[in-house]
Amino acid sequence: MKTLDDLLRQESFSDADIIRLLGLTDPDDCERLRRAAYDLTTRLVGDLVHYRGILEFSNRCTLNCRYCGIRRDNRELERYDLSLEQLVEGAVWAAENNYGSVCLQAGERRDEPFVAFVEDGIREIRARTRSERLPDGASITLSLGEQPLETYERWRAAAGEADCMRYLLRMETTNPEIFARLHPDGFAHEKAYASRIQALEDLRTAGFQVGTGGMIGLPGQTLADLCADIRFYQRMDVDMLGMGPYILSRGGDMLDEGMMASGPLLQRALNMLAVCRLVLRDVNIAAATALQALAEDGREQGIAHGCNIIMPNITPRPVRKRYQLYDNKPCIDEEPTDCRACLEGRIHRMGRRVGWNQWGCSRHFRRRMNLPIPVDSAPGRHGHAADAGLIGIPIQLGSVSDASVPMRNDAVRRDP
Ligand code: SF4
Repeated sequence: MKTLDDLLRQESFSDADIIRLLGLTDPDDCERLRRAAYDLTTRLVGDLVHYRGILEFSNRCTLNCRYCGIRRDNRELERYDLSLEQLVEGAVWAAENNYGSVCLQAGERRDEPFVAFVEDGIREIRARTRSERLPDGASITLSLGEQPLETYERWRAAAGEADCMRYLLRMETTNPEIFARLHPDGFAHEKAYASRIQALEDLRTAGFQVGTGGMIGLPGQTLADLCADIRFYQRMDVDMLGMGPYILSRGGDMLDEGMMASGPLLQRALNMLAVCRLVLRDVNIAAATALQALAEDGREQGIAHGCNIIMPNITPRPVRKRYQLYDNKPCIDEEPTDCRACLEGRIHRMGRRVGWNQWGCSRHFRRRMNLPIPVDSAPGRHGHAADAGLIGIPIQLGSVSDASVPMRNDAVRRDP
């Protein structure tokens, strides 16, 4: 059998390699995996960590995903909608505080008032976040579920400039049986599974940077399932990943099925992030807030395992408690200003920098679209060992070869 160090030096991985890496539990082995992922991230994607200020603007949902605290049949939940002005003000606050990017998230609805509200919000945000520091306005990520192609096209067109729009539509799991258990609405699950894939393809057609991802540690999910998820992300040629550990929700309908113990769950989630970095290389990967529900420094650990995106919650505090997809969601009580300062300190202590006033587009997307690579996130600016003390694991940047990845240093510009 190959040594772990030989395996980590590879640039392509068999399914058996991936499953072996995902299943690592020995602390020294996990640290080797983490170090390889961190090194590849700073070498290939750069040392910037980009913010997406997340605005959870409505907790109404027409669907009933069993794992979700805001699912339709959770009658205990008080529902809310932000007004258009509240939504836009949140985005303007983000831009004034040097965030180059916001994320609009809500439950899934397809009715015309909702579609038009989002369309208006995109248009207003793009117009009102322009400034000297951010002349092209904020970029926007949408996380609003499956929609018809025409809706995706309307939302994309409302933004004006093509490469400022992203969409995150998580697959949750590519195992059709688990997918069916999670989505109990009585519709044909083969159809539901196929329609999720169709939606991802439609998003690409509409011109979005496309992200997907899934939950890690779902009841019944195996390492082979997680490997299949990674192969799916590869096949879909995604630009971004948003993944997090599966955490029980009292508002959900899966209490009886339990969840993994938090220690092993956190390690599995971190292994998944690291392996995704090694396999998918130049995509954006978000350090999910759910990691912090398992460990106070969970998001820092995500950054240390290959993530380069953080999503500070800038939803107005009075309604934030009502958007709990899972239990113990962190940062419920902080003001947006507290989050900003707290996260920046955490990132600096990791030896990384925040990509203020930048869109932070996925390098994979830029390569795919033949767009210039931004100067400020040019690869090769390695992080420091400062994160060692913070998360208790020594970082010694390794030497994962990256000779196969084309660099386009001849065509650089500032990422707006
Ligand atoms: S996961 Fe999304 S679509 Fe499913 S119930 Fe929750 S908010 Fe609605």
